[in-house]
Amino acid sequence: MFCLLPLQYIVSGREIRTNYPFIKAFVFCTFGAMEKAALDKLASFFDDPHNIVVTTHRNPDGDAMGSSLAMARYLRKKKQSVQVITPTDYPEFLKWMPGDSDVMIYSEDPEKSNDIIAKADMIICLDFNALSRIGDMEEPVRKSSAVKMMMDHHQQPELFAAFTRSVPEVGSTCQLVFEWIVEMGDRSHIDSEMAQCLYTGIMTDSGSFRFSSTSPKTHHITADLIEYGAQPHVIYDRVMDNNKESRLRLLGYALSEKLRVLPEYKTAYINLSAEELDRFQYEKGDTEGFVNYALSVEGVRFAAIIMDKDGLRKVSFRSKGNWDVNTFARNHFNGGGHVNAAGGASDLSLDETVQKFVDLLPQYRKELTGKA
Ligand code: 5GP
Ligand code: MN
Repeated sequence: MFCLLPLQYIVSGREIRTNYPFIKAFVFCTFGAMEKAALDKLASFFDDPHNIVVTTHRNPDGDAMGSSLAMARYLRKKKQSVQVITPTDYPEFLKWMPGDSDVMIYSEDPEKSNDIIAKADMIICLDFNALSRIGDMEEPVRKSSAVKMMMDHHQQPELFAAFTRSVPEVGSTCQLVFEWIVEMGDRSHIDSEMAQCLYTGIMTDSGSFRFSSTSPKTHHITADLIEYGAQPHVIYDRVMDNNKESRLRLLGYALSEKLRVLPEYKTAYINLSAEELDRFQYEKGDTEGFVNYALSVEGVRFAAIIMDKDGLRKVSFRSKGNWDVNTFARNHFNGGGHVNAAGGASDLSLDETVQKFVDLLPQYRKELTGKA
């Protein structure tokens, strides 16, 4: 029904330009609350049952899974037929979330997933803002004529969706999903299961409520989620205090043997090879949070972890203050993210990637240290 309508941008606050290659739908792009016209269009779309695919970025994290599972549960309450498809598998410590058993992993069953994507009337993209972030799912999703909706909080969105809600100041996609459900007039649909999922994403993406994007609104929403049935102590225990012994020993090794501190650049980094990861029976998610230890070194404003992953070198950056690691990751490691948390990849060897990283620091000395 959307595809026959003429192009129209409804943008709050500022004009946007897009090279959206096959515009044939209304494009609603907002940088805040969704416009009433867009909400009305979505509400009437959900009046009839449709096949909906909910997807998120490769290597999903707590926010990716929390937002996807809460969205799926919400839409099922609105009588939609929903399949969550993640591009790749995700850590065990997220697999307790309500609805997890219905998730399909694209890399494990591409044929069946492609079939479902091809039949979808709507594809909802959560916690990423460029289709390259969904790996092998990019092509089938790009090709699909389904109505697309994107909800995300990363910088510089690619405008591929008819409905885009991009709010980089907000700390998590889970917060955006909560706000959007309320904007849709459906607060009464939020239940304990959705609350647990949304709480998880808000907690993990805010570094347990300590990153600068944590606002009064974040806490108000969190309080609502607790009223709806989220139990913080249970969620913390499942996500944070549920370490395998091998993961803790890998952390110990990384901190005692592999942490390098470069005070002259207020920088610290850790690198881990495939052999080192194997030695500690590495599983997906085991190095989650390691980079924050490097950032916690006194005086450090820029931290990185560089490691072998899936045949490439995965890099993760964290920063304090206005040192913009999103731009750094985009310019040098084909990546992106947020001002204070970003990632990317490199096809150089591990040693070469570390060398590239270290060699880049002198040109940013002033931004990093404040000294010329
Ligand atoms: P992490 O370091 O935890 O993998 O990711 C930090 C942030 O950067 C996340 O918001 C994530 O979505 C983003 N990010 C991580 N890796 C990449 C990447 O390769 N490309 C882009 N565009 N963003 C990334
Ligand atoms: Mn997120």
